[in-house]
Amino acid sequence: MKIEIINTGSELLLGSTLNTHGAWLGQRLIEVGLRVQRLITVPDGEPIRDAIKDSIAVSDVVIVTGGLGPTSDDITREATAEALGVELIEDEHAVRCLEAFFKKINRPMTPSNLKQAQHPCGADVLPNDRGTAPGVYVPPRLGTTGEKKGCAIFLLPGPPHEMHAMYDAEVAPRLRAMIDIPADFGVTGIKFSGVGESRFQDELDAKLEAIGGDAKLEVGYCARPGELDLRLIGAESLREEAAQLAIDTYPESYISRNGDSLEKTVVDLLAKMKLKLALVESCTGGRIASRVTDVSGSSKVFTHGYVTYSNEAKSQLLGVKYETLAKYGAVSQEVAVEMAQGGLVHSKADIAISVTGIAGPTGGTEEKPVGTVWIGISRIQDGEMHTSAVQKYQPQGREVFKQVVSQAAFMLILNSLRAKRKNS
Ligand code: ATP
Ligand code: MG
Repeated sequence: MKIEIINTGSELLLGSTLNTHGAWLGQRLIEVGLRVQRLITVPDGEPIRDAIKDSIAVSDVVIVTGGLGPTSDDITREATAEALGVELIEDEHAVRCLEAFFKKINRPMTPSNLKQAQHPCGADVLPNDRGTAPGVYVPPRLGTTGEKKGCAIFLLPGPPHEMHAMYDAEVAPRLRAMIDIPADFGVTGIKFSGVGESRFQDELDAKLEAIGGDAKLEVGYCARPGELDLRLIGAESLREEAAQLAIDTYPESYISRNGDSLEKTVVDLLAKMKLKLALVESCTGGRIASRVTDVSGSSKVFTHGYVTYSNEAKSQLLGVKYETLAKYGAVSQEVAVEMAQGGLVHSKADIAISVTGIAGPTGGTEEKPVGTVWIGISRIQDGEMHTSAVQKYQPQGREVFKQVVSQAAFMLILNSLRAKRKNS
């Protein structure tokens, strides 16, 4: 099924509004196995007319967003009616809905709003209880001329919360009814961290490709700082086999397979295991704590976040010894260990993580170049404190450094929790 999306709005081309509709719709459609053949962005006004005509001629489904407003450059309805060669008519029910909407928000309805109650003759009006512009559904039969099979057209409002609700309520069920999508077809996204994209791909590509034989499994990768997403599209049994293979190959890098972020995965596991976490950060400046508190429910597991940037703070708040700082330097295994131990003792949490490193661009030495970082972890196990630290090297600029180091810290917690769970 050939699907095209037309996003209208001059603001999308002026760079003042990020076009999120294309990505949002693309994601929703692939969830039911439908792929977008073309995504077109046009400014308000006349270009909408040409875009709709072009798309109708070569597609089975066209989804248009925006341009349903009351002003003169909102011409999506007119352009669609013209492309189909039908009249625009006023919908009685849509008029009453508009009147009710304006009454609800206590604002007078202007005559130009009446334009929003119009739709191409033969089309259905899609209700919009979040705004003034009803949507429109043109069934495929309307566009049928001669040899050309008809094209289903959806006109959706521009405001994201209106468009999303209308897609889910009105568009998705119609698309499902139009095509025969196997019930088990879908997308699985699996998140990994700490393994490079090329290494991952070299190791797994051929094996993943062999899964399913002729039955197609589509494999895709998306890398971002400190994270790699594996995307599997196909029947459930194939996705399951491929997911298991990838996770078994890189168990220590595996984050989640339900879309959950790394921080959410960690917070949820801590909550499940009824454990408390304390964080001791130097070079990440609170980034890890901030990410933990992005997760709803983090108050159940997060007790303390120390940002100890100076030697004095490390010593005053955590009891890091001045001799250790003087002998090994603030960025060292020894200091990372004392920071984690101090964090654990002072917070009385079950796990404490410490980070100390050189984000750069200044402050590096030959022995400890910019990007050097130590991550410590201290835990109570069988009534005893166990502490260790790992070294990482991430010379990628302050912003990426902080993100990648926070990823590594979360992975350290995650793997420690998973190991503890396995052993108990
Ligand atoms: P409607 O058909 O609902 O009247 P419209 O074209 O009149 O739509 P606009 O006023 O242009 O609506 O847009 C409404 C809001 O939605 C604006 O804030 C606009 O930037 C935003 N918007 C429109 N299209 C997109 C898009 N593709 N991605 C993200 N935001 C969008
Ligand atoms: Mg618009």
